[in-house]
Amino acid sequence: MNVFKIAARFPDQEACIEHLERVRFSPKAYCPHCGSFEVARKSENDRVGRWNCHDCKSSFNVLSGTIFAKSKIPLQKWFMAIGLMLNAKKSLSSPQLSRDIEVPQKACWYMQQRIRAEMTNKNGEIMLHGIIEADETYVGGKPRKRNKRDDNEPKNPRGRATKKTPVIGAVERGGKVVAQVAGSLSGRGVMDFLRKTVDPEGSVLITDEYRAYRAVRGTIPHAVIKHSERYADGLTHTNTIEGFWSLLKRAWYGTHHHYREHYTPLYVGEASWKYNERRNDQAFGKFLAGCFA
Ligand SMILES: [Zn+2]
Repeated sequence: MNVFKIAARFPDQEACIEHLERVRFSPKAYCPHCGSFEVARKSENDRVGRWNCHDCKSSFNVLSGTIFAKSKIPLQKWFMAIGLMLNAKKSLSSPQLSRDIEVPQKACWYMQQRIRAEMTNKNGEIMLHGIIEADETYVGGKPRKRNKRDDNEPKNPRGRATKKTPVIGAVERGGKVVAQVAGSLSGRGVMDFLRKTVDPEGSVLITDEYRAYRAVRGTIPHAVIKHSERYADGLTHTNTIEGFWSLLKRAWYGTHHHYREHYTPLYVGEASWKYNERRNDQAFGKFLAGCFA
């Protein structure tokens, strides 16, 4: 949903609240504290969307427990921030968002981090099936993908020995991606990741010749593309996951320049959620509904 549609559909705070109440409280409103249905919306001259619970005597609104809770930013601006982020292929910087929705840059940055955290949480457990490409990369510093093979060479302290953050990912061709910051890109680390991500029944794993992938031998059928020789051999290539890395890196190098390593999982989470919803024209609604799940 673009900002034009958001502005038309959600002209004010009340319209946003009513929409969220329909999403969260359908078919019946309940108290988020005790679960009771004995609740009533306060009178209209009170604050918009405030409810009372007759059982636990607490008051609440539809935003309780969500990323919007206790925010002073109008919901229409939150909705626009979400719409703009979903439409931004290369991610969206907080100074840009600040200009777009007229909210101070620092507040925009916090909003975006909350939206990213929500996307990261909702990526959940995805089991990939079919032709799966797995690969690893490093985010941060200058791009030096070729040097990842030098991982274990003390003379050449790149990759793991630098400040760059290792990220591992697997993508189902034509389907979803799972990517995460990797504690370790050793054989065991790679194996743990693939075990919870790739359904071994009926799947074929394609990787480059990085030696950590040898650990999967005997568990998943495995084809290796030797990048030292060529980049594709018929179906044997890792172009899909490379494409995802380039999206992630364009966000890194083009939009955010350098975000702190600490936040890398949130940027990986945003890129993954958006990739997995790339063909869903209801992604905006799905994101809002997810905030209550
Ligand atoms: Zn209650």
